[in-house]
Parts: sequence; structure tokens; C-alpha cells
Amino acid sequence: MKEDYYEILEITKSATAAEIKKAYRKKAIQHHPDKNPGDHEAEALFKKSAEAYEVLSDPNKRSRYDQYGHQAFDGGGGFSGGGMNMDDIFSQFGDIFGGAFGGGFGGGFGGGGRRTLKGSNLRIRVQLTLEEIANGVEKKIKVKRKKLAQGTTYKTCTTCNGQGQVTRIQNTILGRMQTSATCSACGGLGQIVDSKPENADAEGMLVTEETVSIKIPAGVVDGMQLKVSGKGNDAPGNGIPGDLLVAIEEKQHDTLQREGDNLHYDLYVSFSEAALGTSKEIETVTGKVRIKIDSGAQSGKILRLRNKGIPSINGYGTGDLLVHINVWTPKSLSKEQREFFEKMSDDEHFQPKPEKEDKSFFEKVKDMFS
Ligand SMILES: [Zn+2]
Repeated sequence: MKEDYYEILEITKSATAAEIKKAYRKKAIQHHPDKNPGDHEAEALFKKSAEAYEVLSDPNKRSRYDQYGHQAFDGGGGFSGGGMNMDDIFSQFGDIFGGAFGGGFGGGFGGGGRRTLKGSNLRIRVQLTLEEIANGVEKKIKVKRKKLAQGTTYKTCTTCNGQGQVTRIQNTILGRMQTSATCSACGGLGQIVDSKPENADAEGMLVTEETVSIKIPAGVVDGMQLKVSGKGNDAPGNGIPGDLLVAIEEKQHDTLQREGDNLHYDLYVSFSEAALGTSKEIETVTGKVRIKIDSGAQSGKILRLRNKGIPSINGYGTGDLLVHINVWTPKSLSKEQREFFEKMSDDEHFQPKPEKEDKSFFEKVKDMFS
């Protein structure tokens, strides 16, 4: 059983954003690995409270958690929520402790002032068709990553003696203060490049092209960003690689328009097809389907094909395909046709007789989208 996030942070279910932040700050300081070296229990508590904070500080995730509990994040298609790594946790600190703590708090376990460097993130865009979005897809994408060159070796930085930090004593009005700052010679790494291949850059890196396979879950939305951990640029030394951030772009579909998880399709039928009834082939994201149009079909009527839309990214079912009927009125008529319609213009069957159902049409549409 996973523990309740509210209990972990020791707050009530009605805690405000400020209260959540305050509670997390307290827990983070209490269980911080730098304060509890080698204490695995503290480390676990530290991670737990970070995870709780990650969910409860996000109004979206919080409301999902309130509604569905931990299940809300199970099998979440590669999104964060379950299992944060230490790097994610330290990256939270920017907004918790403000700039002062952000970097200087220092990541990396095992004591010492050395920082574990993380390589920079890479960003790419991926264009997807509506069909790919509906079904989910695996994309193989060529990415240019900085990778540590074979043969690059490091030696201990002499400026900081491998500590990654330099300590200074300053006389201030408050007395003598000891401040430490990241070593500028090695950037906090504690090591500097000793030897490297000729074609590598100053950090011993080489830009290499790599094909990365990206699993894109069904239901993604234009503008959404997926994270592929560890596929960004390498970090020098024994740092960890950055992430590859994939921005989703949805290609315009020829005939289908997306609205959330629902899709819309404009179907045109001729005057006679509407009067006599017909069947039509419709394109959907999972292939073609044939639908029946009853005789006497009216323009503006909407046929709802259940579950023929886009699956919800959060796993809440699948949207529908709404087929809008448009009756095509002839724009030009032959002499004979003109005579036919003139003859029929007073005919009882040609007089509009909207039924109750048609009158409340707009209410029905409103209903569908609510
Ligand atoms: Zn140094």
C-alpha cells in the first residue's frame, strides 16, 4: 500500500498551495541527504515527500489524486508521477527554496561538496498524424547528442582539490562568515579533462548522431511535451546525461477535426439521398466505416459514432466521432428540374415541419460537449 500524500507531508486535504510548499520545505530540510549521510530511511522519506509534493503542488495532478488516489498515476504512459529520481527532486528545489538554494544545495549522494553534473537537455519536435495520435506510435528519430568521446580521461582539479567547491572566509558586519562557491576551474565537477581525442571539444565530447526510439502513447495533444530520460547531452566526468524533450505537434487532418477527444466529420449528402435515404463510407482514425442515413435526413443532424474518436491520454475511455449531416441543395437546375420543384413547391411533403427534436437541436449539441 502506498502511503497517502497528505499524510506524508502531514497536512490536511484542504491545505492551500502555500501550506503544501511550507510542509514540503520542512520535510526536505529534515530528510535532506546532506544532513543524513548514509541514512537510507531518511533518503526514502526524502524521496517520498518529494513525490508527494510533485503531485500536490500541481492543481491538475492534485485533483486527479483526490479523485482516484494513487491509481491516477499508474501506467501513466511515461509521465512522471511514479518514481522520481534524485535529479528530478533537486530540480524542484529551484522554486521551493528560491535561487539561493537551487544549485548550491548540491545534488549527489555520498557526501562531499562535489556536484553530480547533469548534461543539458535536448529539444525536438515530432509531427504526428491524427491516426498516429489515436493509435499511439513508436517513432525512431535521429538526434544529434553530445557524447563523451572514447579515450577522454580526467584528473583531479587542483584548484579545489577535487572538492568541486572553494571555501572563502569573509569578514562581514555579522562576523566572520564562511561561504563556499562552485569551483570555476572545473565547474563543480572536481575533475578536469586530462586527455582527449583530437576531434573532441574542450569537455572531451563529440557530437554524434543517434537514432532514438520514442514511444508515444495514444491521446497526446498538440503542444504536449514528453520526456525521454537520459537521451540528452552527456555530462562530463561521471555525470548523468540530460533528457530528450519531445514536443508534440499535430498535423491537420484532411477530413477530421479534433475537439478534445472527440472528432468531427462533415458529411455532404445530395438532396435526393437525404430524401430517399442512403449509406455512406466515412473515414475514421481506425479505417473506413459505412454508416446508414435514414430517409428524410435533415441538414444539421449529428450522428454519433461511439468510441471512434481519440483515446483519453489519462485513460478515461475514448472520444466519439460526430458526423454532421449537410444536405447539398442544387445550385443550378435544368428546365425539367425547375418545373418539378415548381410543381412541388406547394406540396405538403415539401413544407418544413420541424419536429420537437429538431427544435431542441442546439440544446442537444450543447449536451454532447458538456
Ligand atoms: Zn575545481
